[in-house]
Amino acid sequence: MGLSKMEFSSIKESMKKGKGKVAVRGWVYRERGSNKLKFIVLRDSSEIIQCVIEKSKVGEKMFKTADAVQIETSMEIFGQIKKDERAPTGYEISVDSFKVIGESDTFPISKDQSREFLDDHRHLWLRSRKMTAMMKIRSTVFGAIDEYFKGEEFYEYHSPTLQAVQCEGGSTLFDVDYYKQKGVFLAQTWQLYAEPAIFALEKIYTIAPSFRAEKSKTSRHLSEYWHAEMEVAWASFDDIIQYGEDLLKFIIKKVLAERKEELKILGRDPKELEPTVKKKFPRMTYTDSLKLLDKKFGMKIKWGKDLRTIEEDRLSELYDTPIIVTHYPKEVKAFYMKEDPKDKKVVYGVDFIAPEGYGEIIGGSERESDIKEIMKRLKDMGEKPSEYEFYLDTRRYGSIPHGGFGLGIERVISWICKLDNIKDAIPFPRTMTRWTP
Ligand code: ATP
Ligand code: MG
Repeated sequence: MGLSKMEFSSIKESMKKGKGKVAVRGWVYRERGSNKLKFIVLRDSSEIIQCVIEKSKVGEKMFKTADAVQIETSMEIFGQIKKDERAPTGYEISVDSFKVIGESDTFPISKDQSREFLDDHRHLWLRSRKMTAMMKIRSTVFGAIDEYFKGEEFYEYHSPTLQAVQCEGGSTLFDVDYYKQKGVFLAQTWQLYAEPAIFALEKIYTIAPSFRAEKSKTSRHLSEYWHAEMEVAWASFDDIIQYGEDLLKFIIKKVLAERKEELKILGRDPKELEPTVKKKFPRMTYTDSLKLLDKKFGMKIKWGKDLRTIEEDRLSELYDTPIIVTHYPKEVKAFYMKEDPKDKKVVYGVDFIAPEGYGEIIGGSERESDIKEIMKRLKDMGEKPSEYEFYLDTRRYGSIPHGGFGLGIERVISWICKLDNIKDAIPFPRTMTRWTP
C-alpha cells in the first residue's frame, strides 16, 4: 500500500503542518461512533487528535475493523488533517485508511478511580495525560539541573549507594543484607563521600536516588527519591545560598520556556511561577522566622524546636517565591554543619522552603572544619568517630572552607506541577505502604 510508506510524524508536528496528507500512530484515547461514522481520539507522546472514520470513505470491510477498536488499541492512521474548532485540540484527521497494530483488552482505568486503584495500576496510569505531562516536566527539570551545574563548571561525580556510615539520622536508614553482613545501608545522601572528592575536583554535583525509611505517612516524603546534591571547595555560607537560589531560578525559567502546555494540563497557571524567576528570595534567620510566625499568626514556638510542616506552610503563605531560612539551632541539624563563631548555639545551615505549602525543597550548609567539634558531635549522636575515619581525613589533610546542599527533585516537581501528593511526581512511587508495581 503506497500510503503506509509515507513517513509518520507526531500528532503535534501534524497539527503544525495543519493541512494535507498526514500519517500518525499512537493509542486510542477515546472512541465513539455510529454505524456510519466513528470518532477516534488518538494520542501519542506529543498530543491528542480527533480522527473521523466514515464508512462511505473507507469502505464496508475496513469500517468493520474499526468496530474492534477500543481504548488503548494501538494503530496507524493515514488521512487528511484540517482545522476544526469543534475537535478537542482544534484539528481533525479525516481518515483515508488505518491499521490496527495491537488490539487492547478492556482498559481497566475508566473515570473516577480511587487513589489506591490508580496506584495499583500505575504501569497503565502512566499513559494518562496528567502523568504524561508530569513526566515531561520531570525530564525538563532533570535536564535543567545538569545544564545549570555544567554551566557553572561543576564536575559530575558519583558516590556509592551502599554505605556503612549514616549521615541524616539512624531512624530512616534502610538496612541491606550485605553478604549476610550487618551495618550496610542504602544511601540517604552522598555527602560523606562527596566531601573527600572536592579535594580533587573542587566543584561537584550529582543526581541520584536517596533512600529514607520514612515511617510517617506524609504527602511530601518518599522512601526512594531523586536527590540533586552539590559540594563546593572554598565556598562560604553565602556562596552556597546563592547557588541554591540561582539553581531554582534556572529550573523554573527552563520549565516556563519549554513546558507551559504541560503546566496547564496539570492545572498550574504558569504565571504563579514567575515571581520565583523575577524576585530575589526573602532571607531570614531561624530566630527571625519564629518572630514572624508569632507576629503574623500568633504561633508561639519554643526556640530550639525544628520548624515543622505547619510552621513551614504558614511562612510560605507570606511570599510567592521560595523562602531562605538560615542559622538553625545546632541540635536540630546534622553533625557536619559549621557552628556560627558569633553565636555557638546556631549553625550555618539553610533550608529553602517552597511556596504554597510544598515544604523544604533544599537543605544545605557550610561544613564544620574543626575536627574536634565534629568528633564531639558524632559522640553526642551516639556514633563511634572511629567508623568515620575516612571522613575525618578530609579535615586532616589540607582542610578548607566548603559547603553544599541537597535538593529534593520530587519536592520541586510537586510544587511546579501543583500536585496534591509527592507520589505523583515520580513514575513508580515507593513509600512505607507502597512498593508495587
Ligand atoms: P524533611 O525535614 O522534609 O524530612 P530533611 O531535613 O530530612 O527534610 P535533608 O536531609 O536536608 O531533608 O535532604 C535534602 C532534601 O531532600 C530536602 O530539602 C528535601 O527537599 C528532600 N527530601 C528529604 N527527605 C525526602 C523524602 N523522604 N522524600 C522526598 N524528598 C526528600
Ligand atoms: Mg527528613
